[in-house]
Amino acid sequence: MSRIRARFWDPAGKRYGIPTWPWRMAPAHLLTRRQLTAAGLRPGGQGVQAQVLWASRRHGAPGVRAAYLYDVRFALPKRTATPAQLDALAKANAARRTCPDCGRDAGYVLPRHLGTCLDCAQTPTDLKEVA
Ligand SMILES: [Zn+2]
Repeated sequence: MSRIRARFWDPAGKRYGIPTWPWRMAPAHLLTRRQLTAAGLRPGGQGVQAQVLWASRRHGAPGVRAAYLYDVRFALPKRTATPAQLDALAKANAARRTCPDCGRDAGYVLPRHLGTCLDCAQTPTDLKEVA
């Protein structure tokens, strides 16, 4: 094993506080949140169990990067929304798209700093009253 790899080799967590492996060296039961999601799982209340550390050479942002790992044995199935929850979400999102001035569904979420759709925001109020 090269010295670069040995730098992040700490399965007991003596150096980094939590078990740490170099890139691609973590045991198979430890997954990132995204890997859990891809498997239809969620961390399920467990904290970060371990990490992968690597030295990034990315231009402009070099440095040590970390990926936090969760134990798949403590993971729980992803929760799916109930029809009532989906319905409530759809209503809330529709409200965010509906302009209070012209009452139309703008087709996008209204910018909060305007509070209206872009058409209403662009038309000066005095012109609108004439029309
Ligand atoms: Zn409008």
